[in-house]
Amino acid sequence: MRSILLWCAQNPWLSAHVPRWGFARRAVRRFLPGEEFDDALKAASGFKTKGIGVLFTRLGENVTELSAASAAVEHYESVFAKGNAASVDAEVSVKPTQLGLDIDATAAYANLQRLALAADKAKSFLWIDMEGSAYTEPTLDLYRRLRVNHPRTGIALQAYLHRTVDDVVKLLPLNPAIRLVKGAYAEPPDRAYQAKKDVDSNYLALCSFMLPVVKRGELRLVMATHDVDLIARIARFGLALGMQRAQLEVAMLYGIRADQQVRLAAEGYSVKALIAYGDAWYAWYLRRLAERPANMLFVARQLLP
Ligand SMILES: Cc1cc2nc3c(=O)[nH]c(=O)nc-3n(C[C@H](O)[C@H](O)[C@H](O)COP(=O)(O)OP(=O)(O)OC[C@H]3O[C@@H](n4cnc5c(N)ncnc54)[C@H](O)[C@@H]3O)c2cc1C
Repeated sequence: MRSILLWCAQNPWLSAHVPRWGFARRAVRRFLPGEEFDDALKAASGFKTKGIGVLFTRLGENVTELSAASAAVEHYESVFAKGNAASVDAEVSVKPTQLGLDIDATAAYANLQRLALAADKAKSFLWIDMEGSAYTEPTLDLYRRLRVNHPRTGIALQAYLHRTVDDVVKLLPLNPAIRLVKGAYAEPPDRAYQAKKDVDSNYLALCSFMLPVVKRGELRLVMATHDVDLIARIARFGLALGMQRAQLEVAMLYGIRADQQVRLAAEGYSVKALIAYGDAWYAWYLRRLAERPANMLFVARQLLP
């Protein structure tokens, strides 16, 4: 089921047609507060009262015109400014292919620089999402260059990739920020662990390796996962090292395990919810279904009157 859903995520015909179907639009609302930034900002205000910060991301990837990438940059510049004005604890997360990486890596880098400056100005933070493995090296390259002058920037790394431990080791001298995720794309066995238990073990190993560096203040680590058992195991390592819960950062997606987000924040962890918005939700939503095929039942229910 996961493979079928990830294949559907890449299918151009489905991508053009499914977003027009009413039941699909109804189903996606579970993971999106709305299509407009104002919907996301309103949701962020609701999180504020629960002690939960947010990451904003406007859906969209693999743009084919640099004008679309420039429009995304202008949009995110206004997001930094509006988040700051609304006094919400907000950061921004972008996909390199949303900023033109498929067209021109130099232009994508210039776009990231503009956003890093906007993050500095708003005293916020810019995250670079990690996409499929064809983009791993170019994305790391963008981040390595960006980090030199922009401390308020970080990158997502995927625990399912065999290479990630090497990538972590090579990034550490930069005093980086790493958002560790399990990985959401279809990857072959020579590049990625296929079994969930192997991905989970690698996630645990990577965090155990990074926690002492976090404790020394030489790395910002965000555990971006809904796997609360895994978070609890990693937290035990951190607490044993003498870390405070507030130094353990967790991020989850809007609409997934909301009760756990509230619980972790109440227990003193630093928690953020990633709020996605926009109309280009098709591929992103299919990846959410692939993560938990039981979500298909919810979609099916939207077909009923
Ligand atoms: C803040 C954030 C940023 C991310 N950024 C990236 C990125 O840049 N690149 C990338 O490749 N991936 C990214 N991801 C997605 C990530 O790679 C995983 O695909 C996703 O988080 C599901 O894995 P999991 O870690 O939650 O663990 P899993 O083991 O898959 O899930 C643990 C439990 O969480 C619940 N759960 C998980 N997913 C869902 C879902 N979709 N619907 C309902 N319940 C669910 C289930 O109860 C499940 O048993 C991001 C995820 C988060 C939370």
